[in-house]
Amino acid sequence: MTSSISFLGLGAMGSALAATALPAGRRTTVWNRSPAPARALGARGAVVVDTAARAVSGDGVIVVCLLDHRSVHHVLDPLAAGLAGRTVVNLTTTTPGESRELAGWAAEHGVTYLAGAIMAVPETIGTTDAEILYSGTEAAFEQHRPLWDLWAASKYVGPDPGMAPLLDMAMLTGMYTLFAGFLQGAAMVGGAGVSATAFAERQVPFLAAMTGQLAHYAATVDARDYTGAGQQSLRFTESALATLIRAGRENGADLEVLRPVHAIVRRQIAAGFGEHGTARMVEAMRSAR
Ligand code: NDP
Repeated sequence: MTSSISFLGLGAMGSALAATALPAGRRTTVWNRSPAPARALGARGAVVVDTAARAVSGDGVIVVCLLDHRSVHHVLDPLAAGLAGRTVVNLTTTTPGESRELAGWAAEHGVTYLAGAIMAVPETIGTTDAEILYSGTEAAFEQHRPLWDLWAASKYVGPDPGMAPLLDMAMLTGMYTLFAGFLQGAAMVGGAGVSATAFAERQVPFLAAMTGQLAHYAATVDARDYTGAGQQSLRFTESALATLIRAGRENGADLEVLRPVHAIVRRQIAAGFGEHGTARMVEAMRSAR
């Protein structure tokens, strides 16, 4: 790795990415809208500049890690005319559509674009717990791979610049639903004096074991056959969910998080699929698209 790196955006994540790249010995230029985070990196050898234009005045890869899609345009648009021939990797969380839009913007300005989706928190950047998905220009992924590999396990998921963000969004959907489910359970037992910490000690191994079921669900969803043997029926699941919701009420916790799940199950039963497997819920989710 010889050429320079420019970092635009030094929030918690941008700072972690820049700090991890510094020991590689490349000229590393950093810029942030407010100056404090850049100073910390400057003390560790980064070149600190006070404008985004100065940050991208070199010839190396440009790493963008800002708050959201709007802030990316806010920073990059004024620089567009000078970016032809450069490579931009955008690690800002965006929707798939926003990423495709930015790829189109980049192509118009002669910029090579790679989308990155960080499946990690700042503390795990540079460790084996971190993964970053990339999509867009494959040549850019390959060319700068030594840099990506400093940060995390690097996975290229295809030429569509929307694919890395799409997978990111889908995985975060699972994560936030899981977190909300845990919090709902903690609220439920909290009314009986069970601490969230004690509850987590039970919940974590149980959930870990239950994720083993996902592969079975996935095979059923891919086959779109909800009538095969061994599937828990929607009717059974409806009864279980109704019991959970009653239990929540008894314990002073309205299980709001479960209500939409219950509603989907009930709609599928009303449509005549009560004896089908519970994975059939995905059909309702597909048709909501
Ligand atoms: P922070 O809130 O810590 O930092 C946001 C950054 O964006 C700051 O550098 C901020 O500058 C800058 N910014 C916001 N608006 C503008 C603007 N209009 N013009 C210029 N700069 C702007 O967020 P993170 O660093 O944690 O996250 C950055 C990206 O990484 C996000 O898209 C996030 O979703 C993604 N990510 C973060 C993860 C995490 O765990 N933190 C995990 C996975 C992805 P200033 O300091 O001046 O406010």
